[in-house]
Amino acid sequence: MNEADSEEMLLHLFGFGYQKTSVLNEADLVLINTCTIRDHAEHRALSYLGRLAKWKAEKQGRKIIFAGCAAERLGKLVQKRFPQADIICGAKSLDKFPEILEKSSLFKPIKTANTPKEASKKVTGQVSIMRGCSCKCAYCIVPYVRGEASSISPEIVLENCRQKAKTHPEIMLLGQTVNAYNYKGFTFAKLLEEVCKIPEVKRVRFLSPHPVFIKDDFYKVVQDNKKIARHLHLPLQSGSTKVLKDMKRLYTAEEYFEIIKNLKQLDFLISTDIIVGYPTETEEDFKQTLELVKKCNFSFAYCFKFSPREGTPAAELKEIPQKIVENRLNILLNEIRECSALAYKSRIGQKEEILFETKNSGRTSGNLWYRTNTLEKVGTIKEILIKDSNGKILK
Ligand code: SAH
Ligand code: SF4
Repeated sequence: MNEADSEEMLLHLFGFGYQKTSVLNEADLVLINTCTIRDHAEHRALSYLGRLAKWKAEKQGRKIIFAGCAAERLGKLVQKRFPQADIICGAKSLDKFPEILEKSSLFKPIKTANTPKEASKKVTGQVSIMRGCSCKCAYCIVPYVRGEASSISPEIVLENCRQKAKTHPEIMLLGQTVNAYNYKGFTFAKLLEEVCKIPEVKRVRFLSPHPVFIKDDFYKVVQDNKKIARHLHLPLQSGSTKVLKDMKRLYTAEEYFEIIKNLKQLDFLISTDIIVGYPTETEEDFKQTLELVKKCNFSFAYCFKFSPREGTPAAELKEIPQKIVENRLNILLNEIRECSALAYKSRIGQKEEILFETKNSGRTSGNLWYRTNTLEKVGTIKEILIKDSNGKILK
């Protein structure tokens, strides 16, 4: 989601005559789009901003924009402690980014805006379909820095999809609880159906769905539309119903597993997010997470150590000693590695539709990586018989 926000901000900056570069010393402007989901992400952003003071002083006219979730949470502190930041634009104000630029008088719009050469090279075009989140997971800072959930009108979303599809055969719909999308009765399932109707769209993905919002109309639309990728990144967080309740996740471990069973019947591969060391997690709870992970056979998982976020209910709880958390994390990571290798090896001998993202590599509908020695056209889909896998890539 941050990537999509960065892309939007970049488009506005192109309108002010800027071009994208990855070479710091060539740049006249640095845009830092920040995340605050875990303490570590926020620290990294702040320390980078700190280091940029020297870069800014080295040449006159250099500018810094500090944007996103950490900017929302820490705006005032950043203003005081980091005078090198010319503009601070919090996540809730991203819609007003162009006005903020204009008002600052640091930037002057130009008549012939630069075109975003970089964005069109990617196979996947990202389209935000909603902003914010109205769930109140006890550990999570997102609702505080991004505000309540609101769906973007289907007209705007579909027009954005049509535009992106001209250069990006794969469309990725984005939202914190993407499948909670509902614009005056226009549901997520309906939106998926409409996106699939766009002829240039070859594959549709979405991120992040929440288990609680998966409804029967979703299964139906998947069955009817081959363009919908057979992969879901469905955050689990914990395999213990007790911890899930403490986290206010609104589903039980059993309910989550039921969804997985339904999805597997439709040939889906599932990846997930898991938090280890939530303050109320006992050894027994952690064991239940491991057991559920084995049963679900995830193709991949992001595993995070619990990070207390100031202002959230979970930050008030007594933390588990770091040694125990690290130990649990290592055990879980090993388990996930085995699951992932199994997911790859299970595809040997099967036919897969590969969407090529480079001349010799691409992804399956189930989101597994494939590599070949032959040369293919980027952006095309080809049906390929999988001959081998080392557990990390299909061949
Ligand atoms: N909206 C999505 C995920 C958003 S945040 C969802 O509900 O699933 C991405 C992931 O960061 C979460 O799935 C969670 O695993 C992790 N996360 C969020 N807050 C965290 C915290 N305080 N400590 C550790 N991990 C956290
Ligand atoms: Fe955070 Fe996701 Fe829960 Fe929303 S649904 S509060 S973004 S973890």
